[in-house]
Amino acid sequence: GIHDNHTLSRLASIGQVSAGIAHEVRNPLTAVKGFLQLMQQETPHVYLDIACSELERAISTLQNLLNVSKPDLDEEAYVPINMCVELESILQLFQDQIYRVEIDKQLRNTDTVIYGRRNQLKKAFFNLLKNAHEAIVGEGRITVHHARIGERVVIRIGDTGVGIPAEKLELLGTPFFTTKDEGTGMGLTQVFSTVYQHGGKIEVKSAHGAGTEFEIQLPVRNQHDTGVVELNLQMIEGQS
Ligand code: ADP
Ligand code: MG
Repeated sequence: GIHDNHTLSRLASIGQVSAGIAHEVRNPLTAVKGFLQLMQQETPHVYLDIACSELERAISTLQNLLNVSKPDLDEEAYVPINMCVELESILQLFQDQIYRVEIDKQLRNTDTVIYGRRNQLKKAFFNLLKNAHEAIVGEGRITVHHARIGERVVIRIGDTGVGIPAEKLELLGTPFFTTKDEGTGMGLTQVFSTVYQHGGKIEVKSAHGAGTEFEIQLPVRNQHDTGVVELNLQMIEGQS
């Protein structure tokens, strides 16, 4: 399905609301955990142990949510970015961590530059590659494609993995949606909110058992568009 700006903005605001709640709930839970630990030192009890580790689990869930929408990530400056160079460096890092999966790079229009938040984009493409890798059982292939189409950079991450059933497609990007035992369901939330912030678009093509392809489109900004970007940079510098 195509996740256009409307879908992305809806998911981004779900993310913001949940981050607000996460922040409010995490602090009292952390306080309660502290008191339980004190009680545990005074009068050790196995129930206190269990209570502490359950609280720890809840707190780490909330922390995952906060990591995605942290305000300092929202304040990262927009800089000129060559996505081919970024993809190469992400893949370099990624390649060291995977086995049995072959990576097929198809990088065209290697000198196109976009304006974006580098760390956020890096994290997003890392999240997509990680999902692609996790979807592959045994041997398989991940295809990374980059091209410029008109005023957009189009990046496709394809995999030969398990695929996504049709009824799950529309849940992608919703905070905490996961089908994995150890999943956080926060990876795609980060991806969707990053693409939304960059004025982009996401399309997901998948069939159960037949692999998945995520297509990300990001607008190319020309030299004469950068007035807005420069203004943003100045405002951020002025704040610190
Ligand atoms: P997590 O990876 O922690 O489960 P994500 O937000 O990254 O959370 O992904 C959410 C869910 O979307 C995954 O649990 C999985 O079911 C599905 N998914 C995402 N990417 C892929 C993919 N490339 N192939 C198959 N399923 C995927
Ligand atoms: Mg993931």
